[in-house]
Parts: sequence; C-alpha cells; structure tokens
Amino acid sequence: MHIDVITCLPKLIESPFSDSILMRAQKKGLVTVNIIDLRQYGIGKHHTTDDYAFGGGAGMVMMIEPIDNCIRELRRHRTYDEIIYTSPDGDLLTQRMANELSLRQNLILLCGHYKGVDERVREHLVTREISIGDYVLSGGELASAVIADAIIRLIPGVLSDETSALSDSFQDNLIAPPVYTRPSTYKNWQVPEILLSGNQSKIEEWRHAQSVERTKKRRPGLLQ
Ligand code: SAH
Repeated sequence: MHIDVITCLPKLIESPFSDSILMRAQKKGLVTVNIIDLRQYGIGKHHTTDDYAFGGGAGMVMMIEPIDNCIRELRRHRTYDEIIYTSPDGDLLTQRMANELSLRQNLILLCGHYKGVDERVREHLVTREISIGDYVLSGGELASAVIADAIIRLIPGVLSDETSALSDSFQDNLIAPPVYTRPSTYKNWQVPEILLSGNQSKIEEWRHAQSVERTKKRRPGLLQ
C-alpha cells in the first residue's frame, strides 16, 4: 500500500509514522507513506495556500489551485483508489471502513486547515470524505494519522501476531474481552480463575461470553 498525505503542516504528522508499528510497517516494506508539503505548490513568492472567504466572515480557506496542482502531480505517478478529504462532516470512520480501505493500493489523505478547503475541491477532486468523530479539530493531520493507523495495522504482516487484529474490538461486531497479565494477584485483586486454568476451550468460551456481555452493556447497537 502507498499513502500520500497532503498537508500544509507536515511536521504535525511526521511523528506518528516514525515510531512503533507504523514505522515497522514501512521498514518491512508493507506500506510507504509520503508526506507532501502543500506549500511546494503554493501560489506566488510566499507559496500561499489559503485566502479569505468570498462573502466575508472569519477564517481562511484553503485554495483549490495548489491542491489541484499537487494531486495532478501525484497522479502522474500513480492511479489512486481513493482521494480522501478529512472532514468533520464526512462519513464516520468505523472498523468496517478501515477493513475496506486496508485492501486498497494507493490512497491520498488530504488534510484541511483553517475553515477547510474551497468547496470545489470537495466537489471535483476528492472521492471520499471521512470524519474521525463529531467534534472539530484544528487540522486534518491528526485525523489522517488516525485513519492511516487504523488502516495500516490491518495489512497482513504489519502486526507480528496476525490474529491479534482479528480479535480486536469491532472486528466481529463485538467488544474485546478483558485482558490480564502478571501478577495474578495484586493488592488482593484477583485475575479471573478461569484464565489461570490452562483449559483453552473453557477460556475461549469465557472470553466470548465476556465479549457479548460487554457489547450489550457498552455498545448494544453493534449487536443489531
Ligand atoms: N469549518 C469546518 C471545520 C474546519 S476544521 C467545519 O465547521 O466543518 C479544519 C480542518 O480540520 C478540516 O478542514 C478537516 O480537514 C480537519 N478536521 C476537523 N475536525 C475533523 C474531524 N472530526 N474529522 C476529520 N477531520 C477533521
């Protein structure tokens, strides 16, 4: 998989890709992530990427021309499955969506800033809009990092134990069961006896029952 992230603040998004699982995925050659500074495509000697909103009002708007030029340049080298704009009013990111996107080859993540992008970018250049939740961030960089993380960890080989992504919450419309590690007793707080029993089939049964119970309690909507 290849992901291009278009941003006017590249520093904001570099670190999530330079550590831990996302970095290892790149080192293993399972994904390449390219962060593109939109300023390279900025207009005039100040490399401007934003301007005042037509009709007035507070807040700058990201101009269409630098974004169009940037995407056109990227498209000379690749055919993209999706050009995704991160937006609070986009489709809510879900595990199902992450699963689907993890099967794609080439993605662009476009990070908005200020008041967002000129509406014509949304109408003509992007193929999909994704929100990471019903709240407003100051820029799309953190949202892009969240989306990329949710997708990349699903690519086979990225997690060392592949089954661990499959047993995560939401994967089968169930919340993950509780997990424990040593010591088995801490300040009189006990790990459930069954987990220490060594009886694998009973343990799996218990875990499933816990998942169902948790889902009923915490995310009943998933069971429907
Ligand atoms: N004026 C816009 C918000 C702009 S916030 C509105 O009211 O809808 C600036 C940028 O941050 C957006 O362009 C978007 O790229 C990003 N952003 C903010 N909240 C987000 C969210 N919940 N999910 C994804 N991206 C978000």
